[in-house]
Amino acid sequence: MLSDLLPASYALSSAMFILAIRGLASPHTARSGNLIGILGMILAVLATVWSPLVSEYLCSFAAIAAGGIIGVYIAFKVKMTSLPQMIAAFNGLGGLAAVFIALAEILAGSTAYLDVSAGVVIGALAFSGSMIAFAKLQGLVPSAALAFRFQQQLNLLLALAVAGLCIAFLLSPQTNIFLWLGSLAILLGFLLVLPIGGADMPIVISILNACSGWAAVGIGFSLNNVLLIITGSIVGASGAILSYIMIKAMNRSLAGVLFSNFGSRKTAAAAAGENKTARAGSPQDAAYIMENANKIIIVPGYGMAVAQAQHVLREMARDLRTLYDVEVKFAIHPVAGRMPGHMNVLLAEAGVPYEDVFALEDINREFASADVAYVIGANDITNPLAKNDASSPIFGMPVLDVEKAKTVFFVKRSLGSGYAGVENPLFFAENTIMLYGDAKQVTEEIVSALEKK
Ligand code: NDP
Repeated sequence: MLSDLLPASYALSSAMFILAIRGLASPHTARSGNLIGILGMILAVLATVWSPLVSEYLCSFAAIAAGGIIGVYIAFKVKMTSLPQMIAAFNGLGGLAAVFIALAEILAGSTAYLDVSAGVVIGALAFSGSMIAFAKLQGLVPSAALAFRFQQQLNLLLALAVAGLCIAFLLSPQTNIFLWLGSLAILLGFLLVLPIGGADMPIVISILNACSGWAAVGIGFSLNNVLLIITGSIVGASGAILSYIMIKAMNRSLAGVLFSNFGSRKTAAAAAGENKTARAGSPQDAAYIMENANKIIIVPGYGMAVAQAQHVLREMARDLRTLYDVEVKFAIHPVAGRMPGHMNVLLAEAGVPYEDVFALEDINREFASADVAYVIGANDITNPLAKNDASSPIFGMPVLDVEKAKTVFFVKRSLGSGYAGVENPLFFAENTIMLYGDAKQVTEEIVSALEKK
């Protein structure tokens, strides 16, 4: 009886996961999408635990309780700005789970050798690659590319060895070959992600996310588990699509991301900026210029997220509109912040109306008719070197054309570079005024100056 219910529960869970993703595609339906996903997962876990597939209840409940408690704790504790490394760590754990399941299958005498070896190789790559990505984003190892001589050749050799071991395992399925296969794939994952740095990291995380999904598919086939195959495919396909979108948004190529050691080069412009001076202004100057403007475009970036300045930013936009009749728009770069959609989430949380928020391709030409570009905690996403310096590591990435506005305010604490480690020549441009300080504090002072009159 219970075994009859399992396929139906799995079908229902799968449908709920698909509906959840659909819901998450729009800010209006994201909350209900998230809830449907949670309910789908609860149904999947309960159906599995109460099915004949599980006979060892104590271990299962202990594992679910431990994982659940740690997961809930991390979810409550994690800062918005640390979400990318959390995603990287969770991807890695998904990959590691695939490796352990594959090992358990082999030890239990499974004969699905192809599925199991695909699961272990992809899972091991996702695990070790994600651990390096986590360490880089957490600042445990330098986030720039770490390259050494003959790295690419060594990686090629390792990749060939992994392929050779796969074939050897299929021809002669022995546990020790399987263990070598898993170990070499783990090493390859470390070495593949180590030389990737700078602004390519979000793409790598998305690729690894896709890998953990495909590893689950391999394991799903070996376990003959339809739910694992479906959910793995959803994760794998959505990760692949997201990687494609990000690669396109940053004008990169897959090979360029994986093999070009992004961030290991210093640009000529970085050295050339040393003797230049940047013009600084006060929040009160900024308030005066902005209240006399007709059109202002706000460009939020990672620093806004760090400072949690989104609420006061909404107040500033509201004051400018209601007190001074200024047209105010928000411009969002596809990789602003530290995760896809980072800025959209924060602005939505602060209650900024969706119709005021525009994607890069929809707003870029409007900077030329704007009086002010208010760049708050953003840097790389405005850097014109991406357009005009072929030697720059961010060359080719589309950027917001803030320099075309009459006046550009940069709200940041120093002239320091952003995530990609590239100096921004706009700080020294004639129409730029630096507003040094914490994004929230500076914007608060602007708001009080605007409201004083
Ligand atoms: P950047 O990292 O280029 O710049 C952020 C700026 O914020 C820094 O230069 C810093 O300058 C400033 N800052 C930091 N804290 C504060 C604060 N409290 N108050 C004011 N300013 C602050 O961010 P962008 O959003 O412009 O660009 C995103 C970068 O991150 C890109 O290179 C992107 O590729 C990469 N990335 C994106 C991911 C994504 O999926 N969106 C994921 C991972 C990386 P200062 O120290 O002088 O204050």
